[in-house]
Amino acid sequence: MRQVVIIGSGCAGLTAAIYAARANLNPLVVLGLEAGGQLSLTTTVENYPGFPAGVQGPELIEMMRKQAAEFGADFADGDVTRVDLANRPFVLEIGNERLETRSLIIASGASANLLGLNSEKRLMGHGVSTCATCDGYFFRGKDVAVVGGGDTAAEEALFLTRYANQVSLIHRRDQLRASKIMQNRLLRNEKIKPVLDSVVTDVLDAEKGEVTGVQLKNVKTGDETFYACHGLFIGIGHTPNSSLFRGQLEMDDLGYIKTTNGSKTSVPGVFAAGDVQDRTYRQAVTAAGSGCMAAVDAERFLEAEH
Ligand code: NAP
Repeated sequence: MRQVVIIGSGCAGLTAAIYAARANLNPLVVLGLEAGGQLSLTTTVENYPGFPAGVQGPELIEMMRKQAAEFGADFADGDVTRVDLANRPFVLEIGNERLETRSLIIASGASANLLGLNSEKRLMGHGVSTCATCDGYFFRGKDVAVVGGGDTAAEEALFLTRYANQVSLIHRRDQLRASKIMQNRLLRNEKIKPVLDSVVTDVLDAEKGEVTGVQLKNVKTGDETFYACHGLFIGIGHTPNSSLFRGQLEMDDLGYIKTTNGSKTSVPGVFAAGDVQDRTYRQAVTAAGSGCMAAVDAERFLEAEH
């Protein structure tokens, strides 16, 4: 029987592991299929406090993992395939393995939705990004493109105008989904060029390992054009990795796990941290902070039972 199991090994899960391990709870971290979370998909992180020269995302994650292991956290490969939160101890299955835990921290993150192009995957972290706040700084004076027509894409495009020379906002319809206020900001910004009724059909140049432009197709006319740019930001929404808990925990309309009073979910003894419960901030440092909160909440919950 485990005292605490942590699902997910991004910033939130590993911070929870550091705190839970230091509290002598010997947590088990289930690494998940996307071990390391979104930080492991990026390159230099320049806004994580304490690293004035920046730090590589995968390196930061590796250091967190070492830190958690140092204090006695255990790690399990694989993904949780089933959970039963109806009774305590909670029951989890990782493939064929079944385990029981007195408390659970869910830090399974959110995955940025992608276009699904092979070239997009190959150039991720090399000009293709899902986070302007993280990577926008690298495109000073350059032309970049943002895909999407919602508030996320609008926010990404507006943020990028701080650095980029020109930002093309590529949207598949002739009307943006973004809120009116965001649309007005987009229209007022001279650096933003809307490219409507268009989809990205390819990102070049995967062979060179850098973005040199995107191939566009106008969905109304069928015309194909090439747009030269140095960066492509995908802003077509995120999906919280919460499907495993559907029907067992309260969630909002987008599937983010609802938390109250810190990290408490609708089931006592189950806590949530990081992007799986955060539709607003989605930053590494806020994920780490909420991971700390979840571990402290779990520790207090277990202590109160004694
Ligand atoms: P969203 O509102 O669902 O918008 C996603 C956008 O991506 C849509 O314009 C959609 O096109 C497009 N899209 C989806 N799949 C695509 C694909 N495969 N290829 C090309 N385009 C694709 O998602 P979001 O912008 O992340 O926003 C999510 C929620 O968070 C919203 O409620 C939003 O208001 C909120 N939010 C608010 C703020 C803010 O207030 N500052 C900031 C960020 C997010 P279609 O329009 O054609 O469907």
